[in-house]
Parts: sequence; C-alpha cells; structure tokens
Amino acid sequence: MSGNSQSDKTSGPWVDINLGAVAANYATLCAAAPDAEMAAVVKCNAYGLGLAAVATKLAGLNCKTFFVAYPEEGADLRTVLQSLNADATIYVFNGPLPHTMPLFQSAKLKPVLNSLEQATQWTTHCDGAPVALHIDTGMNRLGAPLSEVDAIASLGGLNIDLVMSHLACASDPAHPKNEEQRILFANVAKDFPHARASLSASGGALMDARFHFDLIRPGIALYGGSPFDVDERRLKPVAALRAPVVQLRDIAPGETVGYNASFKATAPTRLATVALGYGDGMPTSGSGRVQAMIAGAHARVAGRISMDLISLDITNCKNPIKTGDIATFFGEEVSLFETAKSCNTNAYELLTGLGGRVDRRYL
Ligand SMILES: *Cc1c(COP(=O)(O)O)cnc(C)c1O
Repeated sequence: MSGNSQSDKTSGPWVDINLGAVAANYATLCAAAPDAEMAAVVKCNAYGLGLAAVATKLAGLNCKTFFVAYPEEGADLRTVLQSLNADATIYVFNGPLPHTMPLFQSAKLKPVLNSLEQATQWTTHCDGAPVALHIDTGMNRLGAPLSEVDAIASLGGLNIDLVMSHLACASDPAHPKNEEQRILFANVAKDFPHARASLSASGGALMDARFHFDLIRPGIALYGGSPFDVDERRLKPVAALRAPVVQLRDIAPGETVGYNASFKATAPTRLATVALGYGDGMPTSGSGRVQAMIAGAHARVAGRISMDLISLDITNCKNPIKTGDIATFFGEEVSLFETAKSCNTNAYELLTGLGGRVDRRYL
C-alpha cells in the first residue's frame, strides 16, 4: 500500500498491518532456532496490532502455543481459536489469583506459576491439569526464586510440563548476564526432567542455539520490532502508522509553532499539520525529533506534539504537498526502530501505545 494513497478517505490516523510480514517473521524465527518449538506471545492485544487477526494468522501457520499476560486475554484468545476450530495451548504469564482460578478452567488456560504461594494455591483449587513454572534467574520481577524451587518440586498434585525463565539483558547479546542466567536456568531445569524448558523471547531466539532450549516465546520480533539495542534487518516491518495532512501553512522567520512556542522558524518555513497526536500514541518525547515520510521525503516534527495534531516541517520537500496527503511515521519507509529512538523509547512501547482512535487495517 502506498503511503501517499488518497483512496483512504480517513480523517484520522491508521496503522497498516501486514500479516504476511508477521508470517515472514515467524518463519525467520523458526529458521533461526530449528530445533525448538516456536510459540507466539500475543499479550496486550498482540502488541497493539489486534489479537484476533494476529492469532488467526499464526494459528494458520501451525503455531500451537500462545502466551498472554492476563487470564482475560487468554479467554479472549480461546474464543478466537474456537471460532477457527483451532486447538492450541494458551499459557498465562501472570498466573492465577484466587478469584481468577475459574477462568483458567472455563477457558482451558494453562497458568504460569510464579511462586510457591501461587503453586500451593493452584494445587488446592485445581485438579492435576498441567502448568508451567517460571523460575527467576536474575530478573527479580516475576518467577519463583531459586530458594523456592525444591519446595515447589515436591508439592503433591502439581503437573509441571514447562519450566521457563526470562532474560533481563537479551537486548544486548554480549551482556554477561545472559550467560549467567543461561547457566542457572540449565541447572535448575534439570530438576524437572519431564518438563520442557524455555528461556528465550525474541532476543534469545536470534542468539545462538545454547539459548534456544525446547520452546521459544517471541513477541516483538513477530511484529517487526527489533529486540536489540540496534535495528534488526532480518525482520520485516509489520506495522505502518499513517496520518493525513489536514492543513498547510507558511510562516516567516521569527514565528513559532505549537504549544510553548518551542519551534522558532529561522527561515521561511512551510508546515503540514497532520491528524495524529499523543492521544494516538505518538509520544510527546518525539517533539522536534521524529522524522516522518511524506511525498517521498523526510520531514521532521516541528515543535510540540499535541493531542490530535503534529506539525511537520516540509520546507525541503521537493514534491508539492496538499491536504489529504499521507504522512508515514513508521513503516517500510522509516523504521519503527528509528521512530522509537527519536521518542526515547522502544518498539514495544510505540506499538502497545497505539491509541484506540488509530484504525487497524489489515493487508
Ligand atoms: C513479553 C514476554 C515475552 C516476549 O518478549 P519479546 O521480547 O517481545 O519477544 C516472552 N517472555 C515473557 C516472560 C514475557 O513477559
């Protein structure tokens, strides 16, 4: 789809979502870790891109294992899979709370148990349905501390079919903490000889085979975001954020743009005002920094990003620009990685922050 298409008579921003690129990224991950099962993490509405569409695509690629964060997300996913007549395992990272136990049973969700307390509660509420155990190896966020592992392993009635842990520094493959966590995990996984082992998310999938174990849990790489501190060219862009020009104006040297007058023209300047703002998920931290593509040229955000509007400095754009033309803030032409960097954030936050007003369009 062209970033300059005028056929889309929209008044606001939208995101083009290339499900073929999701499939290509899934294939790239499978090829990078051929000996492991490739699951898919679809928490947070598939990183903002739409749980139903993404899960439908992945189920069609024979993805058999999904992860979400909250049981409510798992129940939504179960509904989607049932509508496809697809059977798949759904693990819930955050595990159960006493009042969410019934949802696990009714939606056939497998909990990831994260502590001795959670494991004990599970055994008293539920039958021997299989579960995952998350063991913390240094993240100190979620997961059972190593000191609890023996007690969990000896709990009666607990049927653990997956042990997992999570890397704290996978965004930097050379970080020594990756190897520390890998060794700790490999050792503790030996205590569960009947369970499969899973350490890696997107970053670890693209690291060497010692990080792959039996099952990999990629999220961001499926959605075209780099899991690393540098851009990752092996992945195809999935999402393209676009918005139409609603007004054009010329200002003279000395005039200012937007709230706080933070942009001051030093020369005659042409501006395009675009229908996208922080209310749609374009962070104000990108003010004066983000580069959009419009009419085949780069144009920088001039001044503060406001709730529903952004001003682009189009002075140096060679091609004429008119209202209704489309600016692309990330996608094929300008990378999600670069735009996120310009906002002092990462691909994860940009995608999951896309607002409810942003129309999701599937290609
Ligand atoms: C979110 C999450 C993932 C997926 O991480 P990506 O970096 O997006 O691939 C995997 N495992 C756990 C425990 C997570 O919370």
